[in-house]
Amino acid sequence: MSSKGTLIVISGPSGSGKGTVVKSLMEMMPDLGFSVSATTRAPREGEVDGRDYFFISRDDFEEMIEDGDILEYTTYCGNYYGTPKKEAERITGEGRDLILEIEVDGASQVKKKFPGAVTVMLIPPSLSVLEERLRGRGTESDEVIKKRLERACEEIKLAYDYDYVVVNENGGVEACARKIKRIINAERSRSARMTETVDNFINR
Ligand code: 5GP
Repeated sequence: MSSKGTLIVISGPSGSGKGTVVKSLMEMMPDLGFSVSATTRAPREGEVDGRDYFFISRDDFEEMIEDGDILEYTTYCGNYYGTPKKEAERITGEGRDLILEIEVDGASQVKKKFPGAVTVMLIPPSLSVLEERLRGRGTESDEVIKKRLERACEEIKLAYDYDYVVVNENGGVEACARKIKRIINAERSRSARMTETVDNFINR
């Protein structure tokens, strides 16, 4: 086993069901770490600071960027979103794989900085299903939904930059999480990640 955990990036447009799929995945694989992002957007009903996000001010976010405390970040629909560096380093330093649930811009930054990161794009079965899901959530205004749909199409165009593309069928959250679990398990057996074990035999 490699002594450093792998970064597993999961992207997908807003409404692709990422949140629920990731939750199900974390239940199936409790050894995984999850990176809680920082954001300047306001909490939605039911969201808890420190669990869903660290909800911080723009000034504090910009200070974190300046201090080099952010692993990657982007602006999305007018707000900052980013991965705090310290916690991510602590978890991967323990040898645990870490899930980053982030959008495409951040994913590309992570892949550049850490080529060993495994990237997965989650997509809905169709554009109409995506729109239904966004409207069904009932938490966003028409204008925000329109912005998010436009952004979704832009994001899905980048699917070929990802290592894996997984479709989240309606009602298929667990099946989808199981697919990602299989990807993670396969990645853990990559020869390049097994060097410590293999080298014991080579350097005996
Ligand atoms: P939402 O406002 O729906 O919670 O998130 C909007 C988008 O920001 C989603 O695509 C989500 O994956 C992404 N996001 C959440 N946290 C981060 C982060 O730390 N970095 C980046 N680059 N994107 C993030």
